[in-house]
Amino acid sequence: MTSLWLASRTETGADSRTAESATDPFEPDARYDEVVVGAGLTGLVTALLFARAGKRVAVLESRSIGAVATGRSTAKLSLLQGSQLQKIKAHTYQSIVQAYVDANRAGQEWMLEYASSRGVAVQRRDAVSYAGTAEGVETVGREFRLARAAGLDVRLVDRTDLPFETFGAVVLPDQAQFDPLDVLAALAADVRSLGGVIVENTRVTGVRASDPAEVRTSRGTVFGAHVHLTTGVPILDRGLYFAKLRALRSYAGSYEVPMGGGELPQSMYLSVDAPSRSIRTAPGRPTGDGSKGPATLIVGGNGHPVGRAGDTQRLVDDLHDWTARHFPGAVPTHSWSAQDYETPHRVPFVGYLPRGRGRIYFASGYDKWGMTNAVQAALTLVSDLSSDSPSWAKTLHHRATLPAAMASGLGANVATGWWALKGWAGVLTGPSTDALPIPAEGEGLIGRSGIHPTGTSTVGGRTCQVSAVCPHLGGVLTWNSAETSWDCPLHGSRFAPDGILLEGPTVHDLRV
Ligand SMILES: Cc1cc2nc3c(=O)[nH]c(=O)nc-3n(C[C@H](O)[C@H](O)[C@H](O)COP(=O)(O)OP(=O)(O)OC[C@H]3O[C@@H](n4cnc5c(N)ncnc54)[C@H](O)[C@@H]3O)c2cc1C
Repeated sequence: MTSLWLASRTETGADSRTAESATDPFEPDARYDEVVVGAGLTGLVTALLFARAGKRVAVLESRSIGAVATGRSTAKLSLLQGSQLQKIKAHTYQSIVQAYVDANRAGQEWMLEYASSRGVAVQRRDAVSYAGTAEGVETVGREFRLARAAGLDVRLVDRTDLPFETFGAVVLPDQAQFDPLDVLAALAADVRSLGGVIVENTRVTGVRASDPAEVRTSRGTVFGAHVHLTTGVPILDRGLYFAKLRALRSYAGSYEVPMGGGELPQSMYLSVDAPSRSIRTAPGRPTGDGSKGPATLIVGGNGHPVGRAGDTQRLVDDLHDWTARHFPGAVPTHSWSAQDYETPHRVPFVGYLPRGRGRIYFASGYDKWGMTNAVQAALTLVSDLSSDSPSWAKTLHHRATLPAAMASGLGANVATGWWALKGWAGVLTGPSTDALPIPAEGEGLIGRSGIHPTGTSTVGGRTCQVSAVCPHLGGVLTWNSAETSWDCPLHGSRFAPDGILLEGPTVHDLRV
């Protein structure tokens, strides 16, 4: 499954807007001031800020620019974020809510200014958090009050222009949306123009907190005064952050909708209740005769913890069915999914990694609000090193963990423990690999080779057999039918059918 954004780059061939321009060469043993691991939005903004400060920067990316969360985002750049403020408030103090809003405002302002200076197309849109059920009305009211108290110019409305029943909404005018790969392409070009290098297809496998820090990769070693892990979830286990983050995957589809001369709803919408639905449009692309094609509808939702949803294809089908019901005649053009990470208090983790001797830093846990949070994280990482952190960053660094956040972290770890047991119990009491049929196209089956869990799948006519044990902490993998991948229900690592690592905290492929 490929996102509308990533697909448009491959469908039209290499055009000037392509983020994935040719990789820079890997220079073994090279020394840099700042080594940034991961070329998503966090990594590239961090790299650009350091390059602008005159630092020698290298970005090391295991896949390609934007290949993971950023290139699959719905890319709303908004300070109204569904019901996010009340989720934060439930786990921490009002001062943290305020600092979160201030941080996101700084991120949004930076991004708008950057996009404007680089000619990146941005559409200004109202953000709308709506109640899809009568029970959601109170949530809308709470979000309105918290947003107002935090200085956001929100208003309450009784109805929206969505083509189905809603029960009131909170609206924040003049937010923004874009194509995330346009932004990444501009950032990558700017990093390179300032002498930075961006090396793709280079997986970082370990970092030693020596002076300078030693960064081990799949292609050799490089050195950096500092190393910034902007890898979604941190790839080093120091500080056990993987256990404090919940990996949540969700789905999106883009649709052509016959509007009979009318227009698609123009704002950026997010329901505050179940089923969670995120709705926006993308401007029509130029057609062969030079005119602009019709706008595309994008609908997202049906999230779940990675590896724990059973048949994921049914979630994609459900999203398509829902869209066809509410936007009659909608025809899917692309479907995709992606994952992001949730912290117990819903505020991102940004800062130094414990036992990293002040050399290793990381940013994670944007809870699907990375367009603003990735930028505020980058601003934080860079300003922390010059001891010039904005006051919102200082407040967020010193947040207290309330019992509610501890309880939610504990609950998440109990669930993880249960999935670890369930995986192993299922395999040990299940059939041996030899007793299983060859999986049908698109199917993956887990069996036992002796007592070792083994996954067999058939994708594109090719049957592959791999170890079904996650190299991170030994979780038994589950088959993701929508993405045809092996996913770990413990901490969210994911692998292609042939065992190659796609994403997650591990740095190893599956044993074949
Ligand atoms: C379905 C969905 C919709 C979303 N919609 C929105 C939205 O509308 N608005 C919003 O604000 N946010 C949204 N988000 C959140 C946002 O997309 C993410 O928070 C953001 O893109 C994260 O950026 P990142 O740079 O931290 O991570 P990524 O973009 O995932 O980048 C991390 C990079 O690190 C690389 N990497 C990982 N491990 C290694 C390694 N060992 N060595 C080298 N490189 C490595 C990866 O390959 C990857 O390219 C959404 C998220 C999801 C899942």
